[in-house]
Formats: sequence, structure tokens, C-alpha cells
Amino acid sequence: MKGKLIVVLGGGESGVGSAILAQKQGFDVFLSDSGSIGEVYRETLNAYGIEFEENGHTEERVLRADEIVKSPGIPDTAPLMWKVRDASIHVISEIEFAGRYTDAKMICITGSNGKTTTTSLIYHILQSAGLNVGLAGNIGKSFARQVAEEHYDYYVLELSSFQLEGVYDFRADIAVLLNITPDHLDRYDHDMQHYVDAKMRIIRNQRMQDAFIYWIDDPVVNREIEKLRPGVTLYPFGEQKMKNTIAYTENGKLIIQTKEREFTMELELLALEGLHNVYNSLASGIVAKLMDISDEQLRTSLSDFKGVPHRLEKVATIRGVQYINDSKATNVNSCWYALQSMRAKTVLILGGTDKGNDYSEIEDLVRSKARALIFLGKDNSKLHAFFDGKIPLIREAGSMKEAVDTAYQLAEKGDAVLLSPCCASFDLFKNYEDRGDQFKECVRRL
Ligand code: ADP
Repeated sequence: MKGKLIVVLGGGESGVGSAILAQKQGFDVFLSDSGSIGEVYRETLNAYGIEFEENGHTEERVLRADEIVKSPGIPDTAPLMWKVRDASIHVISEIEFAGRYTDAKMICITGSNGKTTTTSLIYHILQSAGLNVGLAGNIGKSFARQVAEEHYDYYVLELSSFQLEGVYDFRADIAVLLNITPDHLDRYDHDMQHYVDAKMRIIRNQRMQDAFIYWIDDPVVNREIEKLRPGVTLYPFGEQKMKNTIAYTENGKLIIQTKEREFTMELELLALEGLHNVYNSLASGIVAKLMDISDEQLRTSLSDFKGVPHRLEKVATIRGVQYINDSKATNVNSCWYALQSMRAKTVLILGGTDKGNDYSEIEDLVRSKARALIFLGKDNSKLHAFFDGKIPLIREAGSMKEAVDTAYQLAEKGDAVLLSPCCASFDLFKNYEDRGDQFKECVRRL
């Protein structure tokens, strides 16, 4: 590979991992970032002796690349990307790049909501069963770096639509598509089909012996399957048993049908609560069964999974009021599921950076379950325009402390206070983790 130049765009987890792998494979490597690179990553690049630049691209150098590995955060509309296209340089994602250098079996999870939860649950099941498995993608240590430095037989990969945009030859042995609802439309010219097309790339290159697991009740996914007629074995799951459904629920039980037998488990024993998590458990169960995990092992793992922070995370019960952190609910659909799973009257904290939200999706649930709404954002005008007059109690908060204090005053014994914002967090917080952490901290100080 000497003499071939790989340019990596973006100096975060994904980019630095790709640069390390490219170096290991013998390429000449140059990493370029339009912004500043975090200290840890700068140190890593230095330690590996990888050349890099930050706070701007030297175009002439970038355009000398034989191939470019682009980090998922960089949109195709970035000025540099126009020039890259003009120069006909092949641009791929980290997933495509790393996928070339491993023979491991790939279990890939995508969807608008539930990716991290399902990826973590599948990883937990496989790891508990003793398989030599890595966890990567949109989560934790980059896939490329693990391919360079670890040796796994299996990978469980969480794939965002941005990561899927740059895959061409990559193939998932098992693909899970949880759902497709509007998200990130700001990055797709507000054209839902562009976003759908990116998600559907997960089935690219799949063969009949591979598996495609999907939610049968999702109209968008069904339409796409009709249209694409993929040559892969389909494993649909859904709440109710239907023709072809491999996994479903019946009489309070989760059921997975395999060729030989039937796996059943009481829904009450599942570690994760809420209908959306039943879906996530069904999808994970199918993966487990395709991987020949024993019934006993699967049952144990589905019931002892610890969950992922910031997803319907129970924080504390104070004076009979339960506080729940669902900061990761950054779109309306995930808030719908959170509200749907609430048994108590709820004080809902929502707001932030709106990604083109349509709140009518949660209107009925808000009317039936919300005692009060607290708008936590810099600009709450869209929320007011939609909810004013529909809910009697609406307050505004300019900080997490104010939001939690207000919730504390408004909630009655037996209620829940739910942070499930429907929005991104960047107006008032560093990211959704920071928002969730501040919520937990404020609750603990009550
Ligand atoms: P992602 O990684 O796709 O953003 P997460 O697992 O982090 O998904 O969950 C984000 C939010 O989405 C959770 O807070 C939860 O409210 C909601 N959610 C989780 N699973 C599902 C699902 N299968 N369908 C719809 N919403 C879900």
C-alpha cells in the first residue's frame, strides 16, 4: 500500500481510529479537521506518528488523496466535499474502510430510535454467552481502531444513517432495522426519502444466507421492502402475531419462533420497561436465536441487562414522585414511547434545538398523561404555538435547575417527572449526556 494516500477527514473517535488502521495497513496517511482536535486525539495521533492538521483543510493536500475516509459528522454539503467530488475522489465511511480488514461476523443495528439500547442489549447477550465479541459503531471505541488493535470473531455495530451513507461493499451478516421515523431531516434537505435511502443501505450486499430483522408494523420499512425486494432472508417482529412474524408477544409473553422450537419468556421478567423496549428485546432475541444462544442464557441476559444511561433511566423517587431521565429522546417519536410507557401523571420537561419537529404525534398522549409541561430551551416559541391552550399548566425554564425546581413544585405525590425533550440539546447543553447528567445532579440535590 506504500505510496497510496488515505486522507481522513475529521479528528474525532471515528477519524483517529481510521487513521490508525490506515497506517497499520501500510498506507500513507494524512488527517485533516476543519475545527480543533481534542487533546486526547491529538496526543494519540502524535504517539502513532500520524501527520495531521486542524482548524482548516489544506485543500491541495486533501485533494491528493487516493481515497478519503470521511467522519460521519461532516455533511456532503461542506464546501470541501464539493471539491472532492469535482476531483472524483472516492469517499467512504469508517465502517466501509474497517470492514475491508476483518473477517468477523457483522451484526449491525440501525433505526431512528432504539439503536444504542438494542446494540448494547445484543452485545450483552452475546458476551454473556461467552462469545468473543466487540462493540462498536456509533458507540464507544471506534470500529476501525478495534479492527486495527483487537481480534474479535463478531462485532455488534450501531450504525447511524450518516455512517451508512458511505458504505458500498460492506455487508452485514445480520442486519436489524428497528424503525424509520423523521429525524435529522435538517441534514437531508428536509427530504424524508433521502434519510430513508441512507437507512436502507444496511441491506446492501446482503445475501439469502444473511438475515434482515425488521419491525413489521413500520409502514416506511414495509414500503421499502416491497420496492427493493431484497434477496435476503427476512425476520419480521411485531407486537402481535401475524403471517411470517418470527417474534411477537401473546398473553403477556415474548415469543420467538425458531425452526425447531419456540422460545417464550414472561414480559414482566424483561429488564427494560415500555413497549419500545419490548420491540428492542424482540429484535435482540431473534439475533440471539440466529446465533444459537441457549434459551436459558437468553432468558438470563434479557432479564439482567442493566440498561443504558439517559434512556428512561430511573433517577430517584423523592416525596413520592419518580424522576426519570430520558435525555436521549432527541426526537418526537422517542418521547412518544416514553410517555406511552408512563403509568403515572407526568410533569414533562421538553424543549431544546428543534430538528423540524411535528408535535401532533404526541398531542393525544400529552393531553391524557401530562399534568404540566415545562419548556426548557432558548427559543420555546414553537412549543408555545403548539401546546398553549391545550394543557392548562405550562411553564418555562432557562436552566436545568429551574426546570427541576419547577417540576418539583408542580408534581403531586404519585406523579412522575420525565425529562424527554423531543429536541437536541445544543442550545443550553454540551450534548444530551450533559443535559441528562445535569438533570440527575439537580434531582439529587432536591
Ligand atoms: P438511538 O441510539 O437510536 O438514538 P436509544 O437506544 O439511545 O436510541 O434510545 C433513544 C430514545 O428512543 C429512548 O430514550 C427511548 O425513549 C426511545 N426508543 C428506544 N427504543 C425505541 C424503539 N424501538 N422505538 C421507538 N423509540 C425507542
